[in-house]
Amino acid sequence: MRVQVLTIFPELFGPFLATSLVGRAIEKGILEVRLHDLRDFTEDRHRSVDDEPYGGGGGMVMTAPPWIRAVRTLAPVEPKDETDGSRPWRVLMSPQGARLDEAKVRELAERGDLLFLCGRYEGIDERVRTTVVDEEISIGDYVLSGGELPAMVVIEAVSRQIPGVVKLADSVEQDSFRTGLLDHPHFTRPPVVEGIPVPEVLTSGDHAAIRRWREREALRATVEKRPDLLERPDVLERLTPEQRRALRARG
Ligand code: SAH
Repeated sequence: MRVQVLTIFPELFGPFLATSLVGRAIEKGILEVRLHDLRDFTEDRHRSVDDEPYGGGGGMVMTAPPWIRAVRTLAPVEPKDETDGSRPWRVLMSPQGARLDEAKVRELAERGDLLFLCGRYEGIDERVRTTVVDEEISIGDYVLSGGELPAMVVIEAVSRQIPGVVKLADSVEQDSFRTGLLDHPHFTRPPVVEGIPVPEVLTSGDHAAIRRWREREALRATVEKRPDLLERPDVLERLTPEQRRALRARG
């Protein structure tokens, strides 16, 4: 998996890329991340990347030429062509994009070669989006000051999909949203916390019973916290027989 990032603040990524699962994936060579400073693609003495907005108003807008030059250098194919996998998929981080979810994360992971454009200020000159961007992605309906944290969110989510990044393949398989439902609750030592014991079945050694309990608890968590997920036909389709029984029993 190869990821490139275009930003005016590459230093924001340092500890993130050196730590935990992402850090280990990079060390093992199954994830490669290259940071590019947008200012390296400017051509003026001041290496400027912003200017006043046409039409007036406050704030500054990032100028198009450095972005276009950078993208054409790092991902050199004309825009809007069918991607044949031979060049990076160019993703603009933007609150106006499609909201990131598990399906989108997996789709991006399958592309295998990504270039993230991280904006700042009031955003980037619109002509960047219309000429050298394949897709706009948002991490939620709120506005941040830059695309760097959103890019890190996507990098971390996507890297979990690479085989070998999360140690037990199982722990990804059961993660929330993987099956369409939320994850079941987790318990570890000590056996009693604040007077609350661990559910007995988890210490029974009966693996079939544990599996059924987890399936039911995943369903229960979803009903209680995210009932909207159970309105989706693709989620209902994937319920296990145990979960169908439990759902009927709840009425
Ligand atoms: N005026 C713009 C927001 C600019 S915020 C608008 O309202 O659409 C500056 C930069 O932060 C953006 O260019 C984008 O790269 C990033 N950004 C802010 N919020 C984001 C979000 N929710 N998801 C992804 N990127 C975001």
